[in-house]
Formats: sequence, C-alpha cells, structure tokens
Amino acid sequence: MIKKVVIAGGGTAGWMAAALLKKVLQQQIDVELVESDDIGIIGVGEATIPPIQVFNQYLGLDEAEFLRETKATIKLAIKFENWRTQGESYYHTFGAPGAQLGFCPFQHYWLQAKKAGLTQSLWDFDLNFLCAEQGKFNIIKTPNPLYEMPYAYHFDSGLYGRYLRKIAEKSGVVRTEGLIELVQQDAISGHIRSLHLKDGRQIHGDLFIDCTGLRALLVRKTLGVAFEDWSHYLPANSAIAVPSERFAQTLPYTRSIAHKAGWQWRIPLTHRNGNGLVYCSDYLSDDEAHHTLMGNLDANALAEPRKISFQTGRTTEQWCKNVVSIGLSSGFLEPLESTSIHLIQSGIVRLLKMFPHQQISQTVIDYYNADSKQEFETIRDFIVLHYHVNQRDDSKFWRDMRHMAIPPRLAEKIALFQQTAAIFNDQNDIFRDASWLQVMLGQGIQPLEHHPAAKAVPDAQLLQTLQKIRDAKQQPLAQMLSHDEFLLRYTKQ
Ligand SMILES: Cc1cc2nc3c(=O)[nH]c(=O)nc-3n(C[C@H](O)[C@H](O)[C@H](O)COP(=O)(O)OP(=O)(O)OC[C@H]3O[C@@H](n4cnc5c(N)ncnc54)[C@H](O)[C@@H]3O)c2cc1C
Repeated sequence: MIKKVVIAGGGTAGWMAAALLKKVLQQQIDVELVESDDIGIIGVGEATIPPIQVFNQYLGLDEAEFLRETKATIKLAIKFENWRTQGESYYHTFGAPGAQLGFCPFQHYWLQAKKAGLTQSLWDFDLNFLCAEQGKFNIIKTPNPLYEMPYAYHFDSGLYGRYLRKIAEKSGVVRTEGLIELVQQDAISGHIRSLHLKDGRQIHGDLFIDCTGLRALLVRKTLGVAFEDWSHYLPANSAIAVPSERFAQTLPYTRSIAHKAGWQWRIPLTHRNGNGLVYCSDYLSDDEAHHTLMGNLDANALAEPRKISFQTGRTTEQWCKNVVSIGLSSGFLEPLESTSIHLIQSGIVRLLKMFPHQQISQTVIDYYNADSKQEFETIRDFIVLHYHVNQRDDSKFWRDMRHMAIPPRLAEKIALFQQTAAIFNDQNDIFRDASWLQVMLGQGIQPLEHHPAAKAVPDAQLLQTLQKIRDAKQQPLAQMLSHDEFLLRYTKQ
C-alpha cells in the first residue's frame, strides 16, 4: 500500500507536487516534504503557458490573490526578435489566428487570400496579437471561439512555491527542513526506503518524488538512472540571469531577443523585470555573455548577474522503482518556450492519473515513462525549430544551427508544412497547430502549396469573409484596459 509519499526538494516542483497530491488524495496519503534552506532553490523561472490556469483552478486558488502573491503579470504571447533575421520580429501567441471557415484550417484560406491580394499578416487575425501589440488586456468570458484569448502568467516562481507551501501545509503536508545526506535502499528490490538527514533524522516513505532540481539526488545519484544528452540538438549550456527595475509600463508578453550566439529573455513582473541570456559556452565566453546581457538591459540592474550551468536532455526513466522525478531532476529544456513549469504540472497530473494505491506495477511505470518521453521530445523539437530555421548569417552560431542535423520527426513536420501548409499534431504535443504555424511562418517557412478546398471559394467572397473576421477580432479591443490598469483593478493593489 502506498500510504506515505515523501517529496525530496521544496522548489517550484516540490511545492506544486505537494499541493496537488494532497488536494486530490486528501487523507488517502500522508505527504512529507524535505527541503534544505542551506541549498535553496534555483531561483529562476518566470514565464508560463496557459495550462497553469487549470492547475491553479484545481487547487482552488483565487486568481487575484495568486497574481498579488506572486507579483504576476499577464502573458499573451512571446515576441521573438531577430530570430529569423536581425531587425525582424514575430509573435508566438497563445491564440489561434483566424476562425474555423470550412474543411481546412485557417492558414489555407489566408494563403489563398494572399494570392488574391490580401496584404494583412496572419497575426492581424489574432486577438492575442492585437492586444499584445497595444499593451492591452481584459478577461473575456464568451462561448464564441472567435473571441477566445488564452493567457498565461509571468510570475516569480520562488514566490509561487512559497504561496503553494502555505496552501499545502494548511491541507496537511508536513514540511521538514534538513539536508539529505544519505539515501537508504532496500537490499533486494533497490527501492528507496528512507532519507537520512544530516542531523540524524530518518524519513521513511512508500513512494518518493525527486524534486531536488539539477542535483537529481534520488533518481540519478542514488538509482543511477541514465541521462539522455540532447546537446547535439540544443547546445546552449549556460544562462546568466539578472533582475532589473520594472518599467513604467508592463508588457503583456515575454520578449525573446536573439543575439549573436544565444538569446535574451525579458520578463515583466509587477515589482521588477527578469532578464537573462541563454548561450553555449563553445560560442560565447562568460565575459562576453555578461557584457551582452548587461549592455542590453533597459533598466538598472537590481543585483549581481548570476550564472547557471545546465545540460539539455532528460532522465531516461522518469519513474524508476518507487521514485518519480519531477522538475529539473527529470530533465532540462531551455526556457525558450517557458515549458519547465508546465512539465512539472503534467508530471504531477500524470502521476495522479496512474497513482499506485495498492502497489507499484511495472506496466504503470512503463506507461508513465513512454508518455513523458513523448512529451519531452515534442517540446524539444518545437524549440529546435526556432534555432534551425533561421536566415541569419552574422555568426558561426546561427550558421551551425541552420546546418545541424535535426530530429527526424521535426524534419518531416517542416517538410510537410513547406510542401502543403498542413500541420499534423502528435499525441502528447502540448503545442497546438496554431503554435507550430506561427513559429514556422515567423521563422520564414513559406508553404509552396495549400489545400484545394481554399481555392474553391471565389476570391471576392474569400476576401470579404476575411475582412469580416478581422473586424470581429478588432471589436473586443474597445473594452480592453491597459495591461497595468487591468492588474491594478483586478488585484486591487
Ligand atoms: C535560466 C533558467 C531560466 C528558466 N526560466 C523558466 C521559465 O521562464 N519558465 C519555466 O517554466 N521554467 C523556467 N526554468 C525552469 C524552472 O526554474 C524550474 O523548472 C523550476 O524552478 C523548478 O525547479 P525545481 O523545483 O525542479 O528545482 P529547484 O528550485 O532547484 O529546487 C530543488 C530543491 O531541492 C532541494 N534539495 C536539493 N538537494 C537537497 C538535499 N541534499 N537535501 C535537501 N534538499 C535538497 C533544494 O533545497 C530545493 O528546495 C528556468 C530554468 C533556468 C535554469
């Protein structure tokens, strides 16, 4: 019987796991979380994607309180600057450009309309884009998919962890402060039996969740699970991060600015901005990275820049014996598409769906691992797409990215879009067609053909229909507030 769950680590992953496990399973399980104040948390991670709303709703969080507690702002999109070529930008929004018009997806009609003289970009048909560009936001409650405007948040993940800790402790999670020095395994099965703390305390459990971050203390150091290195696809291995003073106006989107060898994030929170540069040390020295980041801050730095080293890839068995790894212990994908916190969420939900109440079965473990492998790989491919399809010729880094071998599934996806404008979604891909579409077009892939169904509509009728959609998408803008005004009113700060 799985009666006691022990979570090793109290970063974002640990507290998200503790809060949701206890909320769902209540008195069916005891949850104890061990964290070490001496080690602390990684302390970065600020941008999310829309499913975080479902997680918060399930926990019963009040959105206004959550925004206040975590110093959060609204995220409608990521603006990619200088990625295809220097001086150009495009958005990856959470919206879906256009509308459902007929048999085939919107991009086919838009491509046909372009042939018939349409001058507007795909994004001109996207409410998320229109609001992001104008710095506006409001919550739209409507059953009409035309006006849907999915959003996520920028928040301080350290504060999010602290906020969830209050909720988890209130619901009965026991927090133990201490340094795990030794991990005791069963001599025969190899299952973990207990964690031994530096001060001599022992914590016993039936199921262990490894949330020890990049240390991966249980899953890699103790059980010896292998790490699949993906640095041949995503060679960035370093980041340098620094907070800066907040701007007078907070943008409702993340900025991702490509530089000569890497990219910089700018994330607006209500009390400060988060900034960082992701780079590969083979192409850029730490000094150069420091210089690039500090030379491209829009406001005064609030602390000394901090370097973080990482390796891209994943642990090959995310669930091994009686240990499930969640968070950075399960793998690392650079924050280009803000997916790490989402991977925490989906890992916990997957574990809950398959929660081993009576015993841990290998069938369940295998299923969990196959599912999570697919999810990691689809995200990896989406991130590689941004790097690979570029037309920059100003540095060896971008040329190498363009010429590198890419995962076969991604190559097929690009070829299919290039030839037919079609996108097929893979199971477990968290990025929908609209996301792939925006990044493929934004990075400069021009489809050679599109679906014949779009050609069946007379040009004049098609242009008129698209004009109507554009007018409809513009309509809600009048009821929008500036992003700052929305935050102020909604959170009553
Ligand atoms: C540069 C960078 C930028 C990022 N940006 C984003 C982003 O924008 N969006 C996003 O979704 N994600 C982002 N991430 C990822 C995000 O930071 C993490 O997914 C998230 O913070 C979860 O971390 P964690 O809880 O797994 O690890 P950590 O925060 O490192 O927590 C590990 C915990 O384990 C404990 N621990 C470790 N060893 C021991 C021990 N021996 N004894 C006791 N306790 C121990 C520590 O004390 C700590 O509590 C970014 C990551 C990096 C590196």
